[in-house]
Amino acid sequence: MAGECFVKKGSESIIVSLHFMELSMYCPRCQSVLTKKYYKGMMEVDYCPRCRGMWLDFNELDRLEDVVFDQDHFKGSLIHREAPVENRCPVCETPMLEFQYRLYHLKLDACSHKHGFWLDAGEDEHVLEVMRKRKGEIHRKREAEAEWKKVLKGLHEFFRQGM
Ligand SMILES: [Zn+2]
Ligand SMILES: [Zn+2]
Repeated sequence: MAGECFVKKGSESIIVSLHFMELSMYCPRCQSVLTKKYYKGMMEVDYCPRCRGMWLDFNELDRLEDVVFDQDHFKGSLIHREAPVENRCPVCETPMLEFQYRLYHLKLDACSHKHGFWLDAGEDEHVLEVMRKRKGEIHRKREAEAEWKKVLKGLHEFFRQGM
């Protein structure tokens, strides 16, 4: 998508393309240009159209203010996996750190400069599925999503304070 801008000649189009390049973020997995997507009515995320992973920006997560999460519940449930990660933060390009949220076997890569975290395709759906099953209410989709919102908020708080 970014390459299309360079087809045209002339100073105006070059300025446009440079501006576009500056705003673009690239997928840490497959290097595709990320696109904005409104996620589950909560916030905007940067979504990869190719591998379907997504980047959750901490500035966006700040907006989940109405969510209350249990700090104690969170303690010890997030573990740093020491496995080396090749993926780089789409914002600052620092290699990310790999974490696992034990309770839901949720894997994620987080930027040590606190820009946000990356979820591979289907990680969120997997967690939502676990939540729905645990509640024994498969059709209570909204409840699971509210809980997922808490998890996201909790992850955000954890990384903001703890890293
Ligand atoms: Zn991708
Ligand atoms: Zn970063």
